[in-house]
Amino acid sequence: VGTGYVGITTCVILADRGFKVVGIDTDKQRIENLSSGSVPLYEPGIERMLKKALLSKKLEFTTDYSNISDTDVTFVCVGTPPNENGALNMSYVERAMEKLGKELKLKEKYHLVAIRSTLMPGSTSGKLKEILQENSGKKIPTDLGLVFIPEFLREGMAIQDTFHPDCIVIGASDKRSYTRLLSLFRKLYKQDFKSIPIIRMKPVNAEILKVAVNASRAIQISMVNTIADICQKLKEGEISEVTEGLKLIAKLDSRYLGAGLGFGGSCLPKDTRALSFLSSTMNVENTIFESAMKVNKIRIKKLAKEIKDIAGRGATVSILGLAFKANTDDIRESPSIHLIEELNSLGIKVKAYDPYALNRAKAYFDGKVLFEANAERCISESDACIVATAWDEFKKLEPKLFLSLRKKVVFDCRRIYDEKKFKNNGIRLIKIGSFYDNGI
Ligand code: NAD
Repeated sequence: VGTGYVGITTCVILADRGFKVVGIDTDKQRIENLSSGSVPLYEPGIERMLKKALLSKKLEFTTDYSNISDTDVTFVCVGTPPNENGALNMSYVERAMEKLGKELKLKEKYHLVAIRSTLMPGSTSGKLKEILQENSGKKIPTDLGLVFIPEFLREGMAIQDTFHPDCIVIGASDKRSYTRLLSLFRKLYKQDFKSIPIIRMKPVNAEILKVAVNASRAIQISMVNTIADICQKLKEGEISEVTEGLKLIAKLDSRYLGAGLGFGGSCLPKDTRALSFLSSTMNVENTIFESAMKVNKIRIKKLAKEIKDIAGRGATVSILGLAFKANTDDIRESPSIHLIEELNSLGIKVKAYDPYALNRAKAYFDGKVLFEANAERCISESDACIVATAWDEFKKLEPKLFLSLRKKVVFDCRRIYDEKKFKNNGIRLIKIGSFYDNGI
């Protein structure tokens, strides 16, 4: 239930491993697209797997919840976007549980409901259990199983992360639902099953763990970016040398050590805010989470001002990359999008290009930004260029392509270019986390 980034990945992977799967979504257009083999989002490898699954008849899509009664397990993967106050919006999950409950009322056999959506801690054994019992008229855990299994996949790596998870966390209060799920995972992972660590805990702890993992990543990224800013100001300062040490000595997760524009996407900001909100409602100090968010926000403002100082008021700058990171078309809370908004507010005109996120960004900005169909056109007729997403396509761009920039300045916010090569071509490369002469 819910066929977004998490739901589609879950569908195609289960179907690939031989399970019969029905994907349910309330969005009719999405279901039509998926049924005809077209994926309404960009995730490497997923379209090929979808087509294969449709062909094998192992996977089908519908808006009709009544299909649930023919299945044994339901994975709930609907969105939990942030509310204004930082809490996760639980209304989509609540609605899904209500509909699910009504369908399960008619089913005689035991059914397992496994929630994959990120939740406000306390929800599974609290309100969601209540809704499911009330609408189905059944008892948990005797007639129905209810577990929370947090999803840790990263967009852009969804297939790989799902096939090779660091570990599987099962938030289950009773043995029956836990063993049911274990046997499903055994079938899913086959020979790899034994090598995947499995941790069982109470649903509430799994819910806290999920947001805590993202908050700790957000804190790490904000810390590394602050160190990168220090490197930039000190002669011979170089963040990559520092992060090498952080990896080996402080044992920080190397996947979150890339200095850059800051964190974004649909999970890190929202889950950090959710934890901050939760702390504040409990009179628990939330400064640590708020600080990570603040550092993240300030660096965009600071960078926009630096760009304005170099490019000049009224300048035009080109931005390569709109997605919050490479290999996804997701622009939710993308640093690049925030940067464009900040530049616009400083009177800088923006031209932008992204290989996959262009349509989503066009819809978001509604005509306020000029979008180009390729990198070369985007770079032309502008004063400076900002590389905001580390797409492979941008990594391959030759320095001479940037010679058309009036100010001959490139801001490498993803640290993908070689300074010497750019310097030899007469272009000034300003790389986040590396010292540069005329420091700004
Ligand atoms: P998404 O916004 O891409 O997709 C959500 C889907 O749910 C949409 O297609 C929507 O139409 C559908 N939906 C909403 N209400 C519904 C209902 N009542 N019945 C059926 N369908 C309904 O969301 P996503 O990015 O896949 O995230 C889903 C959940 O997983 C969120 O809680 C998120 O925090 C969590 N999560 C996401 C990621 C990620 O990388 N995107 C990673 C881990 C966890």
